[in-house]
Amino acid sequence: MSAEPLPLAERLTRQIAAGGPISVAHYMGEANQHYYATRDPLGMGGDFTTAPEISQMFGELTGLCLADIWMRSGRRPAPLYVELGPGRGTLAADALRAMESAALAPRVHFVETSPVLRERQRALIPNVTHHDTIDSLPEEGPLLVVANEFFDALPVRQCVRVGDEWRERVVIRREDEGRFLPVPGYRKIESGLPPLAVDAPEGAILESPIVGAGIAYALAHRIAKQGGAMIIIDYGHEGPALGDTLQAVRNHGFVDAFTDPGEVDLTCHVDFTVIGNMARQAGLRVFGPVGQGDYLRQLGIDARAEQLARTSPARAEEVEAARLRLTGEDAMGTLFRAMAWIHPDWADPAGFDPPPA
Ligand code: SAH
Repeated sequence: MSAEPLPLAERLTRQIAAGGPISVAHYMGEANQHYYATRDPLGMGGDFTTAPEISQMFGELTGLCLADIWMRSGRRPAPLYVELGPGRGTLAADALRAMESAALAPRVHFVETSPVLRERQRALIPNVTHHDTIDSLPEEGPLLVVANEFFDALPVRQCVRVGDEWRERVVIRREDEGRFLPVPGYRKIESGLPPLAVDAPEGAILESPIVGAGIAYALAHRIAKQGGAMIIIDYGHEGPALGDTLQAVRNHGFVDAFTDPGEVDLTCHVDFTVIGNMARQAGLRVFGPVGQGDYLRQLGIDARAEQLARTSPARAEEVEAARLRLTGEDAMGTLFRAMAWIHPDWADPAGFDPPPA
């Protein structure tokens, strides 16, 4: 006899009742695993819209950026196109089409856990090979890797200042309020804290991308061994910094992160300093982060938008709105950042010059 699986909130409630509070990282991991496994959250009918869903220009320029690195690195043979958390596969489809115009047709490998999204991806890119984690990616051949809004969805550890100590932040259940609640746990965090932790005020929060850093570290070593480059685009900052960046989105608006686990999108700002340091430790060269607006402008979004508007005048307004949304200061242009990792023997990327002072 197989019982219906319990709803995630009920499962977490029982887990906490039996075993005590769970860490914020554990909560975030379980919630997002369920969230992505059970739906396609992208687009107007979903919970949020990502850059590749706004315009084909985003994927095209990212694909051309990688193709350009590959060409100027001596057209090394048979690279693989790898994408982490490819959503609907839109970015990959646009990038691969643009790469083809540069005579590059790589084999395609996606790291994706959601069965729902895997199916959507296969509809756009039938020959894709799917992986649960980066560990099973082929060990031969240079890797051209893209991750857009992937790292922000991974579990983050939070520590909270209590008196002169730092404690891991944990989640309890408040039955009277019908929600979960983050509180300081008992576990003391005593090592590995940045200098700014010393004078932090009571209640301050420090985040650590424990899962993202591990993936970045392993992938950077693969690129160091196999050759290639990686482009990471996400919203985030250059840490270390204090602050609670965990947020929940549903139906294109902010909601409470601790009310409906698994039914809302949970993200944290990506700490580009940590992620970049993982690549540096593996011997890669790191470029950026630069604002998404600067990245796209340097790669030629203005010219591409003009060209699209000229070939289909009926879409001119829509193309211009998309360009502004992707690059505008008050839209995605500065909140979102782009970073590139390059193998030491490969050419520098276009798109990552720091903005003029
Ligand atoms: N890159 C896409 C989708 C971003 S949403 C876009 O820009 O539109 C986050 C993506 O990461 C989804 O595809 C989700 O299923 C995937 N994902 C989230 N956590 C993951 C994990 N731990 N391992 C692999 N994929 C994950």
